[in-house]
Amino acid sequence: MGSFNPANVSLPYSHYIGGESFDSGTKMAVLRPSDGQAYADVALADLDLVDRAVDNAWQAYKQSDWAKKSPRDRAKAMLRWADLIVADKENLAPLEALGSTRPIAAVKQWDIPFCAEGIRFFAEYADKLGGEVIPTDHGHLGMTITEPYGVIGAIAPWNFPLVMASWKIAPAMAAGNAVVLKPSEMTPFSVVRLAELAIAAGIPAGIFNVIQGDGKVGDALCRHPLISKVTFTGSTKTGALIMSACAQSGTKPVTLELGGKSPQLVFDDVKDLDKVAQRIAAAITTNSGQVCVAGSRLLVQEGIAEQLVSRITERFDDMVAGPTWQTSSTLSPIISSRELARIEGVVQGAIKQGGELLTGGQSVAVDGANSFYKPTILQQVDMSMDVVREEIFGPVLCVETFATDEDALQLASHPSYGLSAGVHTADLNRAMRMVRELEAGTVWVNRYGRSWDFAIPTGGFKSSGIGKDLGRYAYEANQKTKSVLIDLGA
Ligand code: NAD
Repeated sequence: MGSFNPANVSLPYSHYIGGESFDSGTKMAVLRPSDGQAYADVALADLDLVDRAVDNAWQAYKQSDWAKKSPRDRAKAMLRWADLIVADKENLAPLEALGSTRPIAAVKQWDIPFCAEGIRFFAEYADKLGGEVIPTDHGHLGMTITEPYGVIGAIAPWNFPLVMASWKIAPAMAAGNAVVLKPSEMTPFSVVRLAELAIAAGIPAGIFNVIQGDGKVGDALCRHPLISKVTFTGSTKTGALIMSACAQSGTKPVTLELGGKSPQLVFDDVKDLDKVAQRIAAAITTNSGQVCVAGSRLLVQEGIAEQLVSRITERFDDMVAGPTWQTSSTLSPIISSRELARIEGVVQGAIKQGGELLTGGQSVAVDGANSFYKPTILQQVDMSMDVVREEIFGPVLCVETFATDEDALQLASHPSYGLSAGVHTADLNRAMRMVRELEAGTVWVNRYGRSWDFAIPTGGFKSSGIGKDLGRYAYEANQKTKSVLIDLGA
């Protein structure tokens, strides 16, 4: 589980198309978040390269046996792929940690096993879900047949490069599609290694392709006539642009996993305040709050607020800021200096508007690199302020207090987001009432965050998204349904 030397990480080429990796296109410097230094150049795709990637995927979809293969064999190839990903940990983990905000220890313990297990989960659907026979009169046979879309465009964010990509590509491929993935331009390389390992596992060349680029490349991918569906994870603003591009270029279906501003409700009947403090702290400091489901709004019942906040602050003090290549680091860097400045601006703005800073509120330099932001708590804030309303994507927790269950629900309600929520209470009836009332795609009770139950779908309500990642829903969203009616009297 060792630290690594960032100078010794060997990087793959930029693009991976039709089983070949290569660099082609204008070069852009890629910076490592831990200290802001350029560590590589990535080649950005132009429109011809987007075309080449999608054409290749289309040819592979039509000509390889991937879609026509027995679904069991498709599953076996993907299970081999997942095994190779785990076996490649010593290579893949430094690649992921170097260019992202994920500390090496977390990448080894969580990101890589979680990515591989997600691929296994979807592989196993390949021969288990299909069409059905429909009840009709006895003179007919009615049925549905499920079919892949063809080529799916997948666009991923930078916050968990491997895991977020796997949630897009695994259900698409298990369902028999070919995929062209565009990772974030800020974290381009680790998914290229995934593509190399797919070939090693026996997945046909061209079924999984990676192209690099910014929003323009993502837009071209969405609009390509041979792309039949787009699956996207990223900000709500980009999600709307993608939806519009897909509508304009062929009414293509979309799966959109977008932003959030998730509340955590803590009632004064909780039995173990230390445990709750631990959960709340973890929910806003994991990946330095650069998590779509970050629990960024603490709503706590009057009477226990002071005690809870003081225990959360103690937890914050345990976090160790440090470069992603050191095993001792537990507080992630912020992805870029621009994002760090934005976080500082939102917090300072809240203070100017009357918000009270309880802890944090400043950046932290490590070895001369000012890449970290101190876990921060603000109170005396409300929904009229950006700090409470907007997704910050940093370790900033806003605290509001409530007296009654109704007050709690009112504070929890957000004008646009509805991604996730947490409820902490010892009262089952109250918990179930909150579950029913909260407008969120996921509600966690007496915990906060995902488990290894991949069958539980994840996805947002309102402006937090459309459709689900994970679970049966995510697999089914990568297939179309064809209806068949046979006249048996003929
Ligand atoms: P982003 O929207 O800036 O970028 C995401 C991806 O979209 C990148 O690959 C980017 O190059 C691409 N892109 C940008 N403009 C595009 C366009 N016009 N057309 C097509 N593609 C385009 O998001 P980000 O900063 O990379 O990620 C952070 C955001 O992702 C946060 O809002 C976070 O909440 C969200 N997120 C959501 C989930 C979820 O499951 N709901 C999970 C992780 C992250």
